[in-house]
Amino acid sequence: MSRFYEEKLPEGYSQALVVDAADRKTVLFMRRAASLLSAALFCVFFFLFAFPRIREIRAGFSLFKCVVFVLSYYLYIVLHELTHGLVYKLLTKRKLAFGFQPPVAYCGVPDLYLYRITSLLSAAAPFTVFTVFFAVLFFLLNDPFSKSLVLALLALHAAGCTGDLYGAGLLLFKYTDPASLRKDTGPKQIYYTKDPIRPDETKQQEGGK
Ligand SMILES: [Zn+2]
Repeated sequence: MSRFYEEKLPEGYSQALVVDAADRKTVLFMRRAASLLSAALFCVFFFLFAFPRIREIRAGFSLFKCVVFVLSYYLYIVLHELTHGLVYKLLTKRKLAFGFQPPVAYCGVPDLYLYRITSLLSAAAPFTVFTVFFAVLFFLLNDPFSKSLVLALLALHAAGCTGDLYGAGLLLFKYTDPASLRKDTGPKQIYYTKDPIRPDETKQQEGGK
């Protein structure tokens, strides 16, 4: 018994929602949300930071820093998934599933039904950790060109968290019962809610696949 997960779907639960990263509609929705979010952040950063310092930024241009920026972004993608994995590992100690199914990288615990708190902590971890990390890095760096690159990473990071934020939002506002369960195979998340108790009915719920 664990308060973080169930091995099998307990009786009295129904499948409420499936979010599948391999599904065309979901991919399209996430891409649009991600593009909007990153475009909005790029605009905000440009007008608040880059525009007033455009000369200093141009003067500080460095190809080396651009290469570091690209490499940092790929490193970030790996670290983002490892952060989900770390939370899952600490709370479940199970084998994790990592993978890349363009356009998304993923990490899940395919064998378990996770309680709301477990899913919420894992979904929110990379967003929280890396937002703080990039914000601190921004204030630590001195030259405006490097600062701009960090802001670009921050915008890409926020866009990369669209799926996680959507999941966290569902858990925060829709599936608010702490007894709610979520199965996370990596690319696919299946939400289960506890059925209301009806003493007149004997129910045997199947969770679906
Ligand atoms: Zn994520």
